[in-house]
Amino acid sequence: MIWMLVTIGLLVNCSTKNSDSMVTVKKFIFNDFQENTYVLYDETGECVIIDCGCYYDDEQSKLKNFIADNKLKPVKILTTHGHIDHIPGNRFVKETYKIPIAMHQADQFLVDSVKAYGATFGFDVDEQPKADELINDGDTIRFGNSELIAFHVPGHSPGSIVFYNKQKQFIIAGDVLFYGSIGRTDLPGGSYETLISGIKSKLLVLPDEVLVYCGHGPETTIGAEKRGNPFLK
Ligand SMILES: [Zn+2]
Repeated sequence: MIWMLVTIGLLVNCSTKNSDSMVTVKKFIFNDFQENTYVLYDETGECVIIDCGCYYDDEQSKLKNFIADNKLKPVKILTTHGHIDHIPGNRFVKETYKIPIAMHQADQFLVDSVKAYGATFGFDVDEQPKADELINDGDTIRFGNSELIAFHVPGHSPGSIVFYNKQKQFIIAGDVLFYGSIGRTDLPGGSYETLISGIKSKLLVLPDEVLVYCGHGPETTIGAEKRGNPFLK
C-alpha cells in the first residue's frame, strides 16, 4: 500500500513538470534515396517535421494523412542538411502548413542549387525555398513542451545539424552518423577529418544509451557505435 502511494506520488510529481514531456518519433522512408523523414510530436499535439523527403504524391499524402489522423499541429520544418534527398518536400510542407524552415546557413548553397544538381542525374526536383530561420551550434528549438538542442557537426556537408532531445535521450543525426558507418565526405564542402572529429567531440560524449535516428537505414545507439563503428576506432 505504501509502495503504491509512493508510486502515485512520483507519477503526479512527474506529470506536473515540463521537463518530462514525452516526444514521440514517427519515421517515414521517402523518395528514391530511401531517406528517413521524421515527425516529432508530444502531448500538446505540436510537431516538427525533420527532413521533408516526401517527393511523390503518395508520399506527400502519407505525411499529410498522418498529421491529420493524429490531430497534429506542425510548427516548424527542421533540415539536418541541404542535400537533395532531405529537402524535396520542403516547398510542399511549408506551403501546406504555412510554417518556417530552419537550417544552418552553411548549407544554403546546396538548397539554392538543388534543381540544377538533380538535373545532372535525372532527378527532377522543384526549386526549394530558402531558410526562414537559421540554426547555430548550441541553439535550443522548442515545440509543445519539448526541446531539441542543435549540434553543428560539419564534414558530410558544411551545415549539417544533429538534433538532441535530452528528455527522451535520442538524436536525429541526419547523414552524420549511421549504424556501423558515417556520412560520405566526397560531396561539395565535405571533409573526412572534420566529420570524424565532430562526431567524437559532440556525439560520442553523449550517454551510451542515447538512441540514434539516422538519415538512412536503421536506428542505433551511441554506445553501439562507440564499440563497433569501424570509422570511430
Ligand atoms: Zn546527405
